[in-house]
Amino acid sequence: MPTSLKILKKKYSNCKQCPELVKNRSSVVFGSKHMNACKVLIIGEAPGKKEDESEIPFVGRSGEILNGFLKEIGLTREDVFITNTILCRPPGNRNPKVLELKNCKTRLNECIKLVNPEVVITLGNFSTQYLLETKEGITKLRGKIYEKEGYKILPMLHPANLLYNGMSEKLIKQFRSDFKKVKKLI
Ligand code: SF4
Repeated sequence: MPTSLKILKKKYSNCKQCPELVKNRSSVVFGSKHMNACKVLIIGEAPGKKEDESEIPFVGRSGEILNGFLKEIGLTREDVFITNTILCRPPGNRNPKVLELKNCKTRLNECIKLVNPEVVITLGNFSTQYLLETKEGITKLRGKIYEKEGYKILPMLHPANLLYNGMSEKLIKQFRSDFKKVKKLI
């Protein structure tokens, strides 16, 4: 087990476990640049085009939405650590495959241990189902608080859902209420 996020990042910097992803990626998007342990760990699905180009998770429109909700509860990107279920961009932004999720699982477990969060926010189906070991969909799981190995898990919809749904007021309210729960937990 690596002793720091920096060492873990180095370990995966040239990972070749998922051949299709390796062929397609420009970078391995390990996570937030600051490399600090944090009270809040956010786990998304997979890097997209902008993330792959910049090597930073959540930099596009979804990232702006996430930053906005964090700001509302007094947090910045420096106060949280952000990563994804897999570190390499799937071709055409397809969903991660089962084997790819499995390949990146040890890394995610080690990342959680090193960040040592009080709360893990899982964004969308993949990270939520992985952490809660369930096949239940995010719509049923979101907004509830679960306990696991010394930290709490709070599943939320992926911010991209807001984009697909024209920034629906109903969804914005759901996100606000979920982020308020994070504030209470830390
Ligand atoms: S997704 Fe994870 S396991 Fe697969 S190649 Fe990238 S770093 Fe390696």
